[in-house]
Amino acid sequence: MYSDELNHASIVDGCRLSGAHVEVFRHRDMADLEDRLSFGRAFRRRLVVSDGIFSMDGDMADLPAILALCRKYDAFSMIDEAHATGVAGRGGRGLCGHFGCALPDIASGTMSKALGSEGGFVCASSEIAALLRQKARPFIFSTSPAAASLFAASAALSILESEPWRVEKLRANVELFVSSLPPALRPREKPVSAIVPVMAGAEARATAAAEALLRRGFLIPAIRWPSVPRGQARLRVTLSCAHVREDVVRAAKAVAEALG
Ligand SMILES: *Cc1c(COP(=O)(O)O)cnc(C)c1O
Repeated sequence: MYSDELNHASIVDGCRLSGAHVEVFRHRDMADLEDRLSFGRAFRRRLVVSDGIFSMDGDMADLPAILALCRKYDAFSMIDEAHATGVAGRGGRGLCGHFGCALPDIASGTMSKALGSEGGFVCASSEIAALLRQKARPFIFSTSPAAASLFAASAALSILESEPWRVEKLRANVELFVSSLPPALRPREKPVSAIVPVMAGAEARATAAAEALLRRGFLIPAIRWPSVPRGQARLRVTLSCAHVREDVVRAAKAVAEALG
């Protein structure tokens, strides 16, 4: 398994459960991934796995580069679209929609984020799907999602298709939020998802800011160690298409004051 160092905990646990040898490559570092792939040719089957959009920084994997390396070194590819579904790409189709490239061998996702329900999904060939149904213990020994959750997710997908303005409005809200922040607090990279990290540094500074924001009616959690390295605590702002302009601008002002 070749796993990005900032992959979500569920991917880390999945790698461990697989029992396979795991190589952790530097975050979004395709040269490091290629080095490791070229050294590991003795392995019979290999899988490169990455978050599509990384949950703590909101940045995006270079899917075309990952797919090219997988082709070159005969490895399988897997992308977790949890934070990309309903957010990234044309009509919220995720990373594959964003890049308009080939599909990874496996795309996993959740119905608990943009789709507002719960449960998860895997998109893969029928062979891989059959393998998972037969061999994936966490799947086999879990109760299936409630019908209500599945219908809610299905309805959310229909809304996503018929009301594409929601994805555009979300992007506009993210841009409005970032441009309403003082320049020093803006993220280094232009956000490509609903997640905007605002760096606070010290753990106590992030926690105090989150508490002050909550008192003013803004639910903006502090993310700190062990979710992110020590000293890189941050406020994790998550925007929605349902936010109105005035609230987005007020939230940016409140964040600046809370960290000021
Ligand atoms: C949130 C998240 C999950 C877990 O989704 P659940 O539906 O809460 O189990 C998995 N992968 C990534 C990358 C996530 O961000």
